[in-house]
Amino acid sequence: MKVRVRFAPSPTGGLHLGGVRTVLYNYLFARANGGDFVLRVEDTDQNRFVAGAEQYIMDCLNWCGLIPDESPEKGGPYAPYRQSERKHLYADYAEQLIASGHAYYAFDTTEDLEKMRKDYRRDDNTNPQYDHNIRGLMLNSLTLPPEKVAELVQNGTPYVVRIKMPANETVMLTDMIRGEISFDSSLVDDKVLLKADGMPTYHLAVVVDDYLMKITHAFRGEEWLPSAPVHVLLWEYLGWKQHMPQWAHLPLILKPDGNGKLSKRDGDRLGFPVFAMNWTAPRTSETTKGFREMGFLPEAFVNMLAMLGWNSGSEQEIFSLDELVERFSIERVHKGGAKFDFEKAKWFNHQYIQRTDDATLAELAKPYIDMELGIGNWELGLLSKVVPLVKDRCTLLPDFWAQGHFFFTTPEIKEEAAIKEKWNDQKQQFFTSWINILTAQPTWDHAVIEATFNEELPKNGLKKGDVILPFRIMLVGGKYGPGVFVIAEVIGKDETIKRIKRVIG
Ligand code: GLU
Repeated sequence: MKVRVRFAPSPTGGLHLGGVRTVLYNYLFARANGGDFVLRVEDTDQNRFVAGAEQYIMDCLNWCGLIPDESPEKGGPYAPYRQSERKHLYADYAEQLIASGHAYYAFDTTEDLEKMRKDYRRDDNTNPQYDHNIRGLMLNSLTLPPEKVAELVQNGTPYVVRIKMPANETVMLTDMIRGEISFDSSLVDDKVLLKADGMPTYHLAVVVDDYLMKITHAFRGEEWLPSAPVHVLLWEYLGWKQHMPQWAHLPLILKPDGNGKLSKRDGDRLGFPVFAMNWTAPRTSETTKGFREMGFLPEAFVNMLAMLGWNSGSEQEIFSLDELVERFSIERVHKGGAKFDFEKAKWFNHQYIQRTDDATLAELAKPYIDMELGIGNWELGLLSKVVPLVKDRCTLLPDFWAQGHFFFTTPEIKEEAAIKEKWNDQKQQFFTSWINILTAQPTWDHAVIEATFNEELPKNGLKKGDVILPFRIMLVGGKYGPGVFVIAEVIGKDETIKRIKRVIG
């Protein structure tokens, strides 16, 4: 049987890094097994629908290079891949469940449900559910005579269809990561399967579509585990048990301190991104930062995500996507949650920057220089020279500006005090005569510049250590940067002399 997996997001907002990891594990599993990777958009909840979120999800997958084989955009043999466009498919299955006694019509109004929650609230049950204890007391096709049910349906009284969860049954599930899991059916409420607007809920749609789309393995976040018994029973009640996919509930991605699931708010609070790309909520216009805009390379982001909850069994941490396809195994996915570590994420990005060729890095760094200086206001050729000089100091793409701005513009001197403190006549004399020597130089390269510098030192009774830092600060503005003579070579003779004169007067 051909392996078929699916990523089934609801388009409700930004794509959390945990969502991208689910995509990645799906993708790796599909590729390793010669299978298909399907993107199915679960947009049946009209209240949570957010315009633009579907396109955003596709953009994120494109950025990460995790391209589905079948999707709403691409189509495929099981189209449509958007559940709202499959609305007509689900009601028949709901009817089938009613006919076999596994589901029922429920006519309760919002007020009825509120009243139920109030009336049956007890100290040991503060949030009573619509379940096997309660359903006998509510307005549904289990409590009303068949003629009344037919009449209500006929006269257009709004209803939902609920699953009839059995009492005191053990529902078993074999999870690829967690092994055998058992659930007590009595603890699960009678979930709504079909809503009053005729749309299925997630529970019905996910089962019907996984069946119709011939999904063989289903990876999803651990937060879906409580819903699993409902899904297992639906597979059984619909007569499809032998086709049920193998489940893998992926461990949560935890806050850096390990206390609970990593949320968007943690990112805002601690200053790191949680979404794959910038996301602007259309209603509030509030923008949440993404890894892409923070300056992560997609390959580094993907590699980092692979290691959040999986290990290769070796010391190796850097894996290309192809290597991951080869090495990934669901058996090595951890059961426990994985703590997110932003420093480690940056370490991955630093590693990838070092491994990326300079021409590609220049392309990637260009927008950040444009942002500072304006498009067309600087020389592209200069960036090609700067990239190899500063890349080892760069962790995120904006660092190419932070570490290399002084190549493009005369910097502000932030460390003037460090020069002035120990300034003396010899140093003044040294720079004055050295400028004259530099001016007369026919060739301009770092070796020549350094040689003239070294020759000039003893004439003024100085050692290299006395003037090298002041010279660096003159050129860079601070105490950082690549080799100072190389900087001088790249910025050119006139600019070098200008920057020295600016300090010595
Ligand atoms: N639509 C669900 C979500 O938004 C998918 C859960 C699943 O993969 O079964 O995450």
